[in-house]
Amino acid sequence: MDVCYDLHSHSTASDGTLNPVALLERARNAGVDVLALTDHDTLAGIAEAEAAARAVGISLIAGVEISVSWRHMTLHVLGLNVSATHQPLIDGLAGLQAYRIWRAEEIARKLEKHGISGALAGARQYCQGNILSRTHFAHFLVSAGRAASVRDVFKHFLVRGKPGYVGGQWASMEDALRWITDAGGLPVIAHPARYGLTRTKLNRLVDEFKEAGGVGIEVVSGSHSRDETLHMAAVARTRELFASCGSDYHGPEKPWVELGRLRDFPDGCTPIWQADHWPVVA
Ligand code: AMP
Ligand code: MN
Ligand code: MN
Ligand code: MN
Repeated sequence: MDVCYDLHSHSTASDGTLNPVALLERARNAGVDVLALTDHDTLAGIAEAEAAARAVGISLIAGVEISVSWRHMTLHVLGLNVSATHQPLIDGLAGLQAYRIWRAEEIARKLEKHGISGALAGARQYCQGNILSRTHFAHFLVSAGRAASVRDVFKHFLVRGKPGYVGGQWASMEDALRWITDAGGLPVIAHPARYGLTRTKLNRLVDEFKEAGGVGIEVVSGSHSRDETLHMAAVARTRELFASCGSDYHGPEKPWVELGRLRDFPDGCTPIWQADHWPVVA
């Protein structure tokens, strides 16, 4: 029988709505055999997820999704199969966590100017870990009646040119990839079709990513259309990157796709689980 891999998911340690135990139970019920927990800029959920994975009989890949600033944009880089106790990785992520707190205060200040008060306390109510995310502000804005849905928030608030926007100052590509590789992990470009890159810029990104030690690209993603999947499969093949697949699950609410509900790789992709150093898990 085919092994079901889902290598991109979130828990309440960042901006997911299920705690690690509930996430692993749901993954088991969805038929996932190998799950990577990849919370934004934190490893705080990993220990709990590992214990829950053992309890439900799933293989857990310890992962992280690092926020990276690259050429005035924000990109997400996954680190798969990292050591969650590697101190330079933990220290690097601590810097991003501190930046998130500062940014949250800025976001709240900007929303206040726009006539929306109490946003920081409101966002904190939805945040169970120490990763304050725009998602938590989005839940607050919906509950305050300022937007109809989380998706709506990302159209009218918190993005460039809209109230509550604060430009990100995240990790450099070099730092993020060094933290990941030194922690024994495999760096993977997350949801590459989401950045609106031209062909030239995508090529440049892959050049710099590989130069810094990057080895994989998410070909199959919960946020990729069929055409985007085919496009990224071609990039993986021609640029000799391992292909990864992940739902980017954040919880049972819209707009996220279900855990493990993923297309197969297009022909010619080499799955990341065939990379050296991938743990023999299933
Ligand atoms: P942050 O890392 O705090 O800037 O927040 C980014 C997060 O916001 C992403 O990881 C998504 O979970 C969420 N997000 C971004 N755009 C959207 C969208 N259009 N709809 C729903 N969630 C979104
Ligand atoms: Mn998220
Ligand atoms: Mn992401
Ligand atoms: Mn994600």
